[in-house]
Amino acid sequence: MSAKKANLSGELKKYFGFSTFKGQQEQIIDNLLNGKDIFVLMPTGGGKSLCYQLPALISEGTAIVVSPLIALMKNQVDAVNGLSSEDGVAHVLNSSLNKTQTKQVFDDIKNGKTKLLYVAPESLIKDDYLDFLKDVKISFFAIDEAHCISEWGHDFRPEYRNLKQIIDRIANVPVIALTATATPKVQDDIQKTLGMTNALVFKESFNRPNLYYEVCPKVNIDKEIVKFINQHKGKSGIVYCLSRRKVEEFAQLLQVNGINALPYHAGLDQKVRVANQDKFLMEEVDVIVATIAFGMGIDKPDVRFVIHYDFPKSLESYYQETGRAGRDGGEGHCLAFYDPKDIEKLEKFLAQKPVSEREIGLQLLNEVVGYAETSMSRRQYILYYFGESFDPVNGDGANMCDNSSNPPKVKDATEDLRKTLEL
Ligand code: ADP
Ligand code: MG
Repeated sequence: MSAKKANLSGELKKYFGFSTFKGQQEQIIDNLLNGKDIFVLMPTGGGKSLCYQLPALISEGTAIVVSPLIALMKNQVDAVNGLSSEDGVAHVLNSSLNKTQTKQVFDDIKNGKTKLLYVAPESLIKDDYLDFLKDVKISFFAIDEAHCISEWGHDFRPEYRNLKQIIDRIANVPVIALTATATPKVQDDIQKTLGMTNALVFKESFNRPNLYYEVCPKVNIDKEIVKFINQHKGKSGIVYCLSRRKVEEFAQLLQVNGINALPYHAGLDQKVRVANQDKFLMEEVDVIVATIAFGMGIDKPDVRFVIHYDFPKSLESYYQETGRAGRDGGEGHCLAFYDPKDIEKLEKFLAQKPVSEREIGLQLLNEVVGYAETSMSRRQYILYYFGESFDPVNGDGANMCDNSSNPPKVKDATEDLRKTLEL
């Protein structure tokens, strides 16, 4: 065991140049290499990719990595290929490849060159691919962003639903599922859908002690936000709005007020969208006003504030969106504007949806309202929602929210929480 561990450190150094593992990476990798199914719940930036990249690199055969976004896959493939002097260690397989390119990928896999094969779930069901993959040596499956399987997650993708059947058709090998989502409901859903209720679970704390959480009533909001941004002049920040129209309007309003801001939403021309995102990443622009389309895969370490012009639809989304602040461990102010009327609008919108979707939506809204209206530590509230206990007096980041640094009134917070979450 210890010999193997020493060896893993050597491989880590050799491939990635890191001298120590982060968090539970080593145990995760060790167990995966010993044939166990693994479930990893680790916040964004925790180092999940390495948990399947390293074992893939040192295993016989090819690991199949399922990931939802082509852009994310491409980044990773480039990164992995950059680790090695040889070409073809990692490949993406999808329908954008022409015949020659596909053949190259297949050849590299057959020749044992390719250690990581990235695929989107909708590609994996293609018969040509399935037939090929059935006959080659697969080391294990990695399901990244595994919360996409669950309707309770913040980014449900129906194509993820059938993964289990596809995996079973290809090979009987270990599966590692990874996500930065931690709500017990999503966790349960992932394990059941992937048939991995016996998996070893590795869960790290979701506490982000450097983030300051604040909720304000939605009054004079435009003025309040302009004031806030002016107090943080020159710093990077994101303002989330629910509608594309609002994004456009508010980006303009900020510009009129002398703030260096640009809009981002899925309705913008692809070129404009990419250009705006790049300007934000390159610090040519301070503030991005965006819908939730902005963020997945964005890794800007020094985002100093995340403002929610409109309240998010779930506490999970809120956590993910605010999680983009303070990645470098520095200041991260998370300010959300709350108006019960906005929630009513969202409820009306949900009323038009199919029953199951509506019920899930309403339950998620309920939890978000609970967060907005609570008088307890917001950090404690969020972590409780993720199934984690937090000491609001001595815990790491205990004073970092409006309610804790400036308590509204003395009240039994535990009772408050129990009622809101209907326990
Ligand atoms: P996640 O997928 O959990 O959000 P990533 O896999 O993208 O996180 O990793 C986040 C960052 O941490 C990356 O820059 C990665 O290179 C770095 N990292 C991962 N493992 C280690 C390690 N053992 N030592 C140092 N840096 C690491
Ligand atoms: Mg990741």
